[in-house]
Amino acid sequence: MADNNTAAPKTGWELEDWERALTIHVGAAWRCTRCKNLVMVTRGGVGVMELKCCGAPMERVAPAAEGEA
Ligand SMILES: [Zn+2]
Repeated sequence: MADNNTAAPKTGWELEDWERALTIHVGAAWRCTRCKNLVMVTRGGVGVMELKCCGAPMERVAPAAEGEA
């Protein structure tokens, strides 16, 4: 409706690009590089995941990594 949002910076990203980038998928996992704690998503959603453990940001782990272990 209101189209007066011209102050928004032009990033070239469409809404669906943002949505895809911010979608948190079930099964996605994050790992603490220090204590090896693992966090896995059991309910999906859209948002920003900023998990921290041991005072450091956790690193994203690829689900079901192929050819590993
Ligand atoms: Zn930790």
